[in-house]
Amino acid sequence: MKKRRKLYEGKAKILYATDEPHLLIQYFKDDATAFDAMKRGVISDKGHCNNQISARLFCVLEKNHIPTHFVKRLGEREMLVKRVKIIPLEVTMRNIVAGGMSKRLGLDEGKKLKQPVLEYHYKSDALHDPLINDDHILVLGIVREKELDLIKEMSFKINKVLRRFFGQRNLELVDFKLEFGRFKKRILLADEISPDTCRLWDKKTKQKLDKDRFRRDLGNVKEAYKEVLKRVL
Ligand code: 5GP
Repeated sequence: MKKRRKLYEGKAKILYATDEPHLLIQYFKDDATAFDAMKRGVISDKGHCNNQISARLFCVLEKNHIPTHFVKRLGEREMLVKRVKIIPLEVTMRNIVAGGMSKRLGLDEGKKLKQPVLEYHYKSDALHDPLINDDHILVLGIVREKELDLIKEMSFKINKVLRRFFGQRNLELVDFKLEFGRFKKRILLADEISPDTCRLWDKKTKQKLDKDRFRRDLGNVKEAYKEVLKRVL
């Protein structure tokens, strides 16, 4: 499949057209940003790791009957995906307190939640991705009620599947962010699932193996992404 015109360039990925109107090539960059793009850097080999990790996780989810935009991996940094229209929502699932939840609610990082917590953020750079609830989503017309129910149901199921998958590899799935898109009247999981979008801690040592190593200048960033790749393959 040949890469054609560049359609969109984001902070961590580029989307290219292909000769097939319903398919795009998603290219993973090494660029990293944090704190609303106030912090910028490069994590060498990140694109390669995230492409492989995402491809593996999308396959696991498809096997568990979660529809995704993933078609196939094309090379080191590229995957073929269905051309979805991204829904402007960041869906966050949390199993353990960390990051935004710790700050917002004054809870200690590392506290296990007695049930998974689902959060929505409105995807808007201009508004800095504000936290919103179900009513805001319906009033803003982001999705209809039935679609929101489906997104919620899919998100809880994804959490179950991924927690089990990572757990078997000695990784704690602390939290993660999902994005969904519309494709031919269906809702598909889109974007990526990687150490850029998940918090992953080693189960025994609690070592952080995700983008928090970049956000918090903890060092060994590239090594953390490689370790996750090694465990998921
Ligand atoms: P928090 O709200 O605690 O900052 O993030 C919760 C989870 O969602 C973390 O795993 C984090 O990596 C992911 N996440 C939230 N917002 C973004 C974002 O804008 N970009 C990326 N790559 N991940 C995000």
